[in-house]
Amino acid sequence: MKAAIKGDVSFFAKEIEAACGQDVLTCYQCRKCTMGCPMAFKMKVKVNEMMRAVQLGRKEDVLAGDTMWWCVSCETCATRCPQGIEIVEVMDVLREMAIKGEYYIPVESMKSFHEVFLNSVRSYGRLYEMGFAMDLNLALLDPLKDAGLGPVMFSKGKLKLLPHKVKNLESVKKIFENVKKIEELQE
Ligand code: SF4
Ligand code: SF4
Repeated sequence: MKAAIKGDVSFFAKEIEAACGQDVLTCYQCRKCTMGCPMAFKMKVKVNEMMRAVQLGRKEDVLAGDTMWWCVSCETCATRCPQGIEIVEVMDVLREMAIKGEYYIPVESMKSFHEVFLNSVRSYGRLYEMGFAMDLNLALLDPLKDAGLGPVMFSKGKLKLLPHKVKNLESVKKIFENVKKIEELQE
């Protein structure tokens, strides 16, 4: 990784805080996030290391890295973090920044995963698993991928045929609208 650039230290963390409300500067490197992360074995830069790089203002390195692209938003890290940092929200912001900045995405399928996931949340306020799986397969040009798992998941009640919207979908839509406005102001 490049050395921290003087003046950039913590500015990057502040940028992230402005986007999602999570204060990465409170991370004190206990490594509980990484120890519990089921995808850590894939990440070249582990979750706690990525948090440190953010604190040091290493924006280029973080956005060109693979950490956020392996994250599957399982929330384990956030549950374990003694500082209560919602790391998934940090990951979301970093993915958006990387896409906008046209950084190389080391796990191309995760870009589709991210976009399809956000579309589902935008439409229903939560993840509609069935629609998500179908849309993702279409985006990956592999419509029958994991089709055999469907009946098993149905039988165990893990998949619902129809989507369930959250009660206050308007609030969710407002969040997306506000984010869009902020992005337009930053351009
Ligand atoms: S949410 Fe992402 S970073 Fe956190 S434990 Fe799960 S896969 Fe790892
Ligand atoms: S669990 Fe929280 S405080 Fe500990 S290293 Fe990870 S982000 Fe930092």
